[in-house]
Amino acid sequence: MVIKEKVKLSGYTTIGIGGTVSYFVEAKDTEDAENAIKFSAALNLPYFVLGGGSNLLINDAHLEMVIIKPKIKDISIQGTKVEAGAAVKLPKLVQLLAKQELSGLEELAEIPGEVGGAVVMNAGAYGREIGEVIETVEIYDGEKFIKLKRDELAFSYRSSGIKPGWIITKVTFNLKRGNIFRITKLIADIKRKRRQSQPVGEKTFGSVFKNPEGTSAGLLIEKAGLKGFRINGAEISRKHANFIINRGGATFKDVVALMELVQNRVKEQFGIYLQPEVMILKGV
Ligand SMILES: Cc1cc2nc3c(=O)[nH]c(=O)nc-3n(C[C@H](O)[C@H](O)[C@H](O)COP(=O)(O)OP(=O)(O)OC[C@H]3O[C@@H](n4cnc5c(N)ncnc54)[C@H](O)[C@@H]3O)c2cc1C
Repeated sequence: MVIKEKVKLSGYTTIGIGGTVSYFVEAKDTEDAENAIKFSAALNLPYFVLGGGSNLLINDAHLEMVIIKPKIKDISIQGTKVEAGAAVKLPKLVQLLAKQELSGLEELAEIPGEVGGAVVMNAGAYGREIGEVIETVEIYDGEKFIKLKRDELAFSYRSSGIKPGWIITKVTFNLKRGNIFRITKLIADIKRKRRQSQPVGEKTFGSVFKNPEGTSAGLLIEKAGLKGFRINGAEISRKHANFIINRGGATFKDVVALMELVQNRVKEQFGIYLQPEVMILKGV
C-alpha cells in the first residue's frame, strides 16, 4: 500500500479539475484495499474510491479525506471467462479480448474508464452495457470480501447495486468466442462513430446528464440553444451538447453553474428535469 499526502487531484480526472486531498492511498492488491479502509477509519476520515476519473467532477477546494485508488491490474483468461483487476483500463481490455477472439465488450471500446468504475456506472454504448457480460464482482464491503453475481447487482441504465464505500477489486466476465475480423471491424466502426459525434481528446468527463426516457439529453440541450455556451473556462461542446469541455482554467464552480443553467433552461422549455450522470465529489 502506498500512502501519499496532500495530492492534487486535477491530474486524476479527465476534465482536469480537482483540489488537494489529505491522503491518497494506492491499493495494489486486495489486501491493500482492506488496509486502505482501515487506514481511513484509524484517522477517522471519510474515504472515496477513485477509478479512471472519467465520470467525476471533484471540488477544487482542499478535501479533508482519503482517496483510495485501486491499482489492481491483473488479467487472467480461462476459455471464455476473463478475470480483470478493477484498475484495468477498458480500452486495453477491449483490445486484448479482440486478440483472444473473445466477444462481448467491443461496443465499449474507447470509454476511457477502468473496469471498477465501469461496473459502478454500468457503462454502456451502442446498445451494450458492461453489466450484460458480467459473471461476478469481487468487493471489499468495509468489513469482508464478498463476491456478487450479476443477478445480485441490479444493473440498470448507468446504475448498479454497488454501494458507496464498497471497493471493487476484481471482475469476472463471461464472454463468447468470436471471429477476429468481425470483432476488429466492430471496434474500428465504433471508434469512427465516436470520433464523428463526440469531442474525443478534449478535457471532459463524458455525458453530463442521463438520457431521459424516450429522448436524449444532448438533443434537449441543443434545442435549448446551448451548444457552445460558456461560463468562464467551462463550455458546452459544439460537437455534442451533453459534454462539458474544460477550455482552460474551468473551476468546479463554473461547471456546477453551467450544469444548473442547463437544467433550468431544459426544465423551462421542455418540462424535463435532467438528472446528472456525472458523479460529483464535493468533499468535506
Ligand atoms: C470522452 C468520454 C467518453 C465517454 N463515453 C462514455 C460512454 O460512451 N458510455 C458510458 O457509459 N460512459 C462514458 N464515459 C464516462 C466514463 O468513462 C464511464 O462512466 C466510466 O465507466 C467511468 O469509469 P472510471 O474508472 O473513470 O470511474 P470514475 O470516474 O473514477 O468513478 C465513477 C464512480 O465509480 C466509483 N468507482 C470507481 N472505481 C471503483 C472501484 N474500484 N470500486 C468502487 N467504486 C469505484 C467512483 O467512486 C465513482 O462513484 C465517457 C467519458 C469520457 C471522458
